Amino acid sequence: MQADSFDAIVIGGGIFGCYAALYLAGKGARVALLEKEQRLFRKASLVNQARLHSGYHYPRSIATAALSDEHKQRFTTEHRQFVNFSFEKYYAIDHFGSFTDPGQFERFCAYLKIPCERITEHPLFNFHRLEALYKTKEYSFDPVLLREYYCRQVEENPGIAVFKSIRIQMAGAAGSKWELDTTAGRFHTPMVINATYAATNAVNRLFGLREIGLTHEISEIAFLTSVEFQEKGLTVMDGPFGSIMPYGLSGLLSMSSVAYTHHKISYENLPHFDCQVPEDPGCTPDMPGICTDCARRPASNAYKMLRQMEQYFSEQVHFQYLFSYYTIKSKLKTSYIDDGRPTEISKLHDTPALYCLFAGKVNSIYEIEKIV
Ligand SMILES: Cc1cc2nc3c(=O)[nH]c(=O)nc-3n(C[C@H](O)[C@H](O)[C@H](O)COP(=O)(O)OP(=O)(O)OC[C@H]3O[C@@H](n4cnc5c(N)ncnc54)[C@H](O)[C@@H]3O)c2cc1C
Repeated sequence: MQADSFDAIVIGGGIFGCYAALYLAGKGARVALLEKEQRLFRKASLVNQARLHSGYHYPRSIATAALSDEHKQRFTTEHRQFVNFSFEKYYAIDHFGSFTDPGQFERFCAYLKIPCERITEHPLFNFHRLEALYKTKEYSFDPVLLREYYCRQVEENPGIAVFKSIRIQMAGAAGSKWELDTTAGRFHTPMVINATYAATNAVNRLFGLREIGLTHEISEIAFLTSVEFQEKGLTVMDGPFGSIMPYGLSGLLSMSSVAYTHHKISYENLPHFDCQVPEDPGCTPDMPGICTDCARRPASNAYKMLRQMEQYFSEQVHFQYLFSYYTIKSKLKTSYIDDGRPTEISKLHDTPALYCLFAGKVNSIYEIEKIV
């Protein structure tokens, strides 16, 4: 393979970038996959709640709920060995302050044809706080196993050259090709896919292209164990509540809470946070770093999340907090209306081509196939 000329360059080595590179290589393209960090898959693709969405989570966005279900079938089939199918999954509605109610939730599930069985007694839950509890069907993918799988797939694919710890210094159109000056040399390509999630707008800017409206949050996922609540999950909806559920097949439970998971918010298109300091060029609004590895990451909110979530359980249930991962969670500004999480792919430049891929949910990796 010629070192500097590729049919396509994919920027960003999370699950969306890896899948896009494999998809294009599968069509016979010679692809370069560029990743800023030393290793692939260290950000949102690793630090998430690992929920293989069936739609339950989005009673205010029929579109996201329906899209979750569309891709879930294929994602589940093609990633069977990385999915936890066997845990008991409950959804519940808090007596106080929920944006939904049992009637609405049941109509929503019936509309989407997703199972929900109302449970009126259960020894593990506190019905003084829960207005309604439902047994549902939802799975959890394993981000660590997915990382191992996708890293192996891209590294071993003869059509893909993986460049890690790379910095793109300049980019611009030269005739029908993009020219990229990087720390690994100069690259030419007729097609670029920007799959950098929190860095989406920084990369668009580098190419002189328009930005998309995003907000960013430094988010914490806490990891727990529980003897009484192992291989079970509870999500309380719809509002400032939380979730505890298996993190794939790891044996751990992941915990998040709308009130406490998000530590800092940036309303600018690039992720600006006060923990980014000039002494550390490894994390800037243009090139966000790995929050879990950062000494200036926010102090953990795990005990606050746990206090909030424990209210929904009976006294029989105990949790042990182990550790937390942090990352930047980015959202489309337009999602504020209905809390939806669509995956958006926009073609920002025709010739040479640049596709901007902003990821919503992990199981929508296939959206790229509709466009490119
Ligand atoms: C807290 C949280 C909880 C979530 N929960 C769920 C869930 O339960 N279920 C679900 O389906 N989805 C969930 N999501 C969403 C899901 O995790 C993301 O949509 C998905 O992982 C994004 O994948 P990605 O490959 O686009 O981004 P990432 O995994 O962030 O990868 C982007 C890559 O681009 C690299 N990069 C950035 N800038 C550059 C540059 N200039 N040059 C080269 N490389 C660069 C980064 O280093 C990174 O490796 C959650 C997300 C978060 C943050």
